[in-house]
This record gives sequence, C-alpha cells and structure tokens, in this order.
Amino acid sequence: MSKDILIIGGGIIGLMTAYFLCKSPNKITIIDEKDITNGTSFGNAGMLSAFSKNPLSSPDVLLDTFKLMLKGESPVNIHPSLDFNLYKWLGSFVLNANKKRLKKTLGLFERYGKISLDYYSFMSKEDKMDFHFRQDGILMIYTEQKSFDKKVILCQDTSKYKILNIDETKEYMPCVNDKIIGSILLKQNGHLDPALLMFELKNYLLEKKVEFIYNEEVKHLEFSSNKVVQVHTSKHSYKADTFILSTGANTNLMKQSKTSFLMTPAKGYSLTFEMQEDLKPKMCALFADLFIAMTPRKNTVRITSKLELGSTSDVIVKKQIDSIKHNLALYTKDFEMKNIVQWSGFRPLTPNDMPILGFDERYSNLVHATGLGWLGITFAPAIGKIINELILEHKENKNSSDILLFSQFYQV
Ligand SMILES: Cc1cc2nc3c(=O)[nH]c(=O)nc-3n(C[C@H](O)[C@H](O)[C@H](O)COP(=O)(O)OP(=O)(O)OC[C@H]3O[C@@H](n4cnc5c(N)ncnc54)[C@H](O)[C@@H]3O)c2cc1C
Repeated sequence: MSKDILIIGGGIIGLMTAYFLCKSPNKITIIDEKDITNGTSFGNAGMLSAFSKNPLSSPDVLLDTFKLMLKGESPVNIHPSLDFNLYKWLGSFVLNANKKRLKKTLGLFERYGKISLDYYSFMSKEDKMDFHFRQDGILMIYTEQKSFDKKVILCQDTSKYKILNIDETKEYMPCVNDKIIGSILLKQNGHLDPALLMFELKNYLLEKKVEFIYNEEVKHLEFSSNKVVQVHTSKHSYKADTFILSTGANTNLMKQSKTSFLMTPAKGYSLTFEMQEDLKPKMCALFADLFIAMTPRKNTVRITSKLELGSTSDVIVKKQIDSIKHNLALYTKDFEMKNIVQWSGFRPLTPNDMPILGFDERYSNLVHATGLGWLGITFAPAIGKIINELILEHKENKNSSDILLFSQFYQV
C-alpha cells in the first residue's frame, strides 16, 4: 500500500502535524499501534505553560527536587535500571541545568509558546473546535515561604504577573486551606482539555480526508540506500514518499534509524474526578513546591503529578496515587473525589527540554518529531507548523531557523 506522507504515531504531535499538512494536496495517513483514545496526549494536565515558568533542566528545579526528596514529598522517583542510557541522560540533565541554558530555553519557550497559543486560539475560533481553551493564566501556588519570597522578587512586572495573598488565592482556588503562603498568577499562560482537543482534532482531520489506521504497531523500518522504502506492521507493509516518526516516548523505531539521541520516558499520573461545585478551581493551578497541577474541565477536575524515571510499565501504582492525594491534602480543605478515573502516561523527555525535530541525518525521507517532554500540548501547534514547512518547502535542517534553534540536532 502506498501513501504520500505516513505519520507514525497519533498523539498530539502526529495530529497537529497532520493538521498543517492536510491543507496541502498530499494524501496524509496516520498509523497508530492503539486506537487513539487514551494515550499520553489524553490524560495530561493540558496546561499551556510556555511563559515565565522554569524548564525542567534549570538549577532551581534541581535544587527544589533535592529538597523535596529530603522531606519525603518528592514527585521524582528514579528506579534502579540496567539501561545505561538512563544514567547518560541523568548526567546530561545535570550538566544542562545551568543559568546560560536556562536563559536560552526561556526565550525559545516564549517564541514557540506564542505561535502555539495563537494557533489554539485560531483553531477554537475559526475551525470552531471546542476544547475548553482558556488563555487566563496559570496560578502558581506556593507552600514554602522561601520559594514564594524568591519568586515574588522576580515577578514585579504587573503586565505579566499578579501576586496574591491567601484570601485572594482562594477566590481562584476555593479549595486551598490557610497553610498555603500565597500565589502568583502567570498571566500569559493558559490551559485546555487535552482529551477534547484530541477528539476535536481527530474529527477535523477525518473531515479533511486524512486516513487513520488504528491498532497496528509499526515494527520495522525498511531502508534502502539513504531512504526508508517501506514500514512493516504485524498485518501489512506501507510505502510512502515521506515518513514522520511521532511515536512519543517509544524509541524503538528511532533506534532502528540509528539516530543518536538522548530521551527517556518519564511516567506521570492523573486523577480525573467530579467535585463539589463551590470548591472547584476556577482556573488552572500548579502547587509549585509540590509539582502537583489541578485543572478544571467542563464537568470534572484533574490532578496530575509525578515524574518517574526508569519505568516503562503503565501500571497505576497505588503508592504513587496515595502520595499525590496525601501531599495535596496538606494544603486543601477536605473534599470528596467522585467517580475517579486514574491514568498514567509517559513524557518523552530529553535532558535539556529541547525536542528532537527535523529530517533524519542519514535517511532523507524520514522526519523526527518527538521529545516534547512535559510540554507537548503547549508546543504541538508550533511543532506541526515547523514540520509542515520543512517538508512542503523541501528545506534541509540547516536551512530552517526553527530546526537550528529548537531541535536537539543542533544542541550541544
Ligand atoms: C502526567 C503528565 C502531565 C502532563 N501535563 C502536561 C501539560 O500540562 N502541558 C503540556 O504541554 N504537556 C503535558 N504533558 C506532556 C504531554 O502529554 C506530552 O508531551 C505529549 O502528549 C506527547 O505527545 P506525543 O504525540 O509526542 O506522544 P504520545 O501522545 O505518546 O503519542 C505517540 C503515539 O505513538 C503511538 N506509537 C508509538 N509507537 C508506535 C509504533 N511503533 N507504531 C505505531 N504507533 C506507535 C502511540 O500509541 C501514541 O498514540 C504531560 C504528560 C504527563 C505524563
């Protein structure tokens, strides 16, 4: 079976890439090993947090995580593993957590965050997609006086930040108790419901005649000289002019292309539930010192947390769920979580928050689009746009300023 462009992996990155590409005359096909209803792009927090928020690889995050580990409240777990790459990843992560890179990353986040937010706004207004898109900021709630004081000094620009005391915080987050210290509203950010976004996008793409192939895992890439000629699943083989790898945290196919990369799956959890109306968050919030996000949707509320390295099992570990509930309960009033849906997913995490984007350096019709880590929803429209321009304008990586700036291929 022959296709023009075959996108392998129907997460948010695969779908957003198809969103741009389907406006061209090319026939677009998306193939996924599952049915695209519940993967990493569905159960996440849906925060659009490109502005004024430190990336993971920053000196502060490293220090704060270490302090939380000492207190037994750390969201980060590192499972002992025989995978040497995990230790290489950790080494690179620590080396990248420096002030120079932080400055560069913050600038890039703003640049690609702005592109993405503008597209989300366009999609909800012009394409009439309803995915609960809100550009009303993210509330950073602090539970440690020291970290609050440190942040407040940096947040004096009232066009970007609003500093709130406990009572003011309660107007946005009625469920918090008096043990919190205060909060800072990061005004430029936003949030959306990722599952709704995925469903709306899928429907849009189906209308635009994008073909979906579900429940077929691509097992092998077949190469001939400097090209991928076809891919093989357990059921069929597919030829295409261009192949896009957007397989998220699953690195099996990337390894076959022998591309050199450092990426690790970082497991996280979410709990989605109904809660009493008067205590529901009025906006999306992050308990900054606990690394727990609480986001409102149309009828439910979602809590997300945890970053487990060295695990590839999607089993929901009760101890982790209990620890999220316990840590959150220290700073909230008692409330009942009704009809809880528990979920786990894997962030495709690179050691310096830079994605893996662009044409493969060996195979000229293979494109990589992954490594978005904890910000895949935030940057998906920008990534789709970059990949679309690269392919349709027949650019080489080195001629794309976006790839030069924002891809792992050009980072040291
Ligand atoms: C707990 C948690 C909270 C998060 N919160 C946020 C947030 O608030 N804001 C934000 O911006 N980001 C957040 N993220 C990150 C975000 O969810 C991810 O970055 C994003 O979903 C990754 O999208 P993706 O398309 O790269 O990968 P995925 O969504 O994992 O999609 C990859 C797809 O490829 C398919 N696939 C894999 N291998 C194959 C194969 N061989 N053959 C066929 N199909 C294959 C998979 O089935 C899957 O559907 C969070 C993540 C977690 C875990």
